[in-house]
Amino acid sequence: MISQVQSRSIFSRLFTYFTVFTVVIMICLWLFQILFLQTFYQQMKIRELYSVADTIQDGYGKESLFATISNLTLRSDMYIQIVIGNTVLYTSTVQNPADRMNMFANSYDYDTLKRKVLKAEDHTVVTQQTMNRTRDEDVMIYASLLDESSESDSTYLFIYTPLTAVGTTIEILAKLLVLVTILAIGIGVIMSLIISRRLSRPLHRLTESAVRLGQGNFDVHFDGSGYAETEELAATLNYAEYEISKSDRLQKDIVANVSHDLKTPLTMVKSYAEMIRDLSGDVPEKRNKHLQVIISEADRLNDLVNDLTSLSKMQANVDTLDVETVDLASLAGESADSFSVHAEQDGFTFEVVTEGNTEVPADPGKIRQVFANLIGNAVRYSSTEEDSDRTVLIRVTEQPETVRCEVIDHGQGIPAGDLDQIWDRYYRSSSNHSRTSSGTGLGLAIVKQILLLHQAAYGVESIEQEGSTFWFELKKENE
Ligand code: ADP
Repeated sequence: MISQVQSRSIFSRLFTYFTVFTVVIMICLWLFQILFLQTFYQQMKIRELYSVADTIQDGYGKESLFATISNLTLRSDMYIQIVIGNTVLYTSTVQNPADRMNMFANSYDYDTLKRKVLKAEDHTVVTQQTMNRTRDEDVMIYASLLDESSESDSTYLFIYTPLTAVGTTIEILAKLLVLVTILAIGIGVIMSLIISRRLSRPLHRLTESAVRLGQGNFDVHFDGSGYAETEELAATLNYAEYEISKSDRLQKDIVANVSHDLKTPLTMVKSYAEMIRDLSGDVPEKRNKHLQVIISEADRLNDLVNDLTSLSKMQANVDTLDVETVDLASLAGESADSFSVHAEQDGFTFEVVTEGNTEVPADPGKIRQVFANLIGNAVRYSSTEEDSDRTVLIRVTEQPETVRCEVIDHGQGIPAGDLDQIWDRYYRSSSNHSRTSSGTGLGLAIVKQILLLHQAAYGVESIEQEGSTFWFELKKENE
């Protein structure tokens, strides 16, 4: 069952974000361009007036003053006058028709302005005035005292600058902004549509594949091409799909293998029991032979059930370790000794080589099982032919931080392609599909679980027809 989607689509989200973004930008534009434009403009003019006045004040008394002033007038739309008492010492004429200058100058009451300058704390006055004598035109006037002698012949600096009427500009801007707002929202819709389509396409593809996977189709391939993130998601899903299909295959294999493994010995037990009943019951020699078969088949069943139980316990993490200080060299020796029956019967020799201090904290019972499984395999997968090398070398060596144990055989080896899988339950290398007499297919899975519980590194190196080296390294110090 796929749960009902509650969240909003990528499109509606993107569209909301775009709209909010557009609205915020537009509000800012409206505020700055329309509401504050006038104030900005005035502030700017005042700053300009002050900076021009500063330059003139700096140049006052120097020869270059007039050149500086005409230069300033050229650069900015300002009309400058320097007045001593009632005499105009300088008035800018460059570029400015004299009548305009006069219009500014005459329209203001000089004396009032002069008085204001004198009264002002810093002897500076900036004021705005509408020149309504001829036509409405706003002028910003800056007046300051350049040189204070007596009241009648102090030197004053007057700077006039016309203020452009921003009203019309604001009207034009307002109309333009309406257009821009509509355009921006339109573009927002189109962008949201395009982006959401592009974003959702790989997601839809992934969802479709996931639905098919959910229906049990393990052949699906997740394709997230388009974006790094979706590609990463697709790669993860493909990996998950691979793992799920692997465990599904394993599950099926386990059921098939367990039932096969149970059936074979049971059939044997049943048929040998029938043989004893019908044929050999009275012939002690035959009967004992048949009974021996029943006993070893029962043993095999027992092994299988034990292996299954301990593996599932360990995998479910209910099995804990009884850790104590263990000498791996003596464990290896004991394990090799218990295989000595093989040594005598089938010509196997077990060599144990140890080096350094081989004591580690570990669960002795479980590590013994690891050795037993590895040595058992070394025996099982070595040829018993006359001229074959049947030496199994068990090497236990001290490393800087670990103790390394190796079980080396010269048997049939493992194909390179199988090396990763042999640690899985019931995996049998491609060169070994026959059921050997005592293998349960769980040996290495148990070894792996035990070593994982010990947080030990493990691995295998193998060359086909030359032999295999199974190794593990237990840490000297418990973490
Ligand atoms: P099995 O009961 O089949 O031995 P294991 O889990 O112990 O199960 O081993 C899994 C498979 O790994 C074996 O079937 C075999 O193909 C391969 N294998 C394990 N040990 C060796 C070895 N020493 N030499 C060659 N093949 C090995």
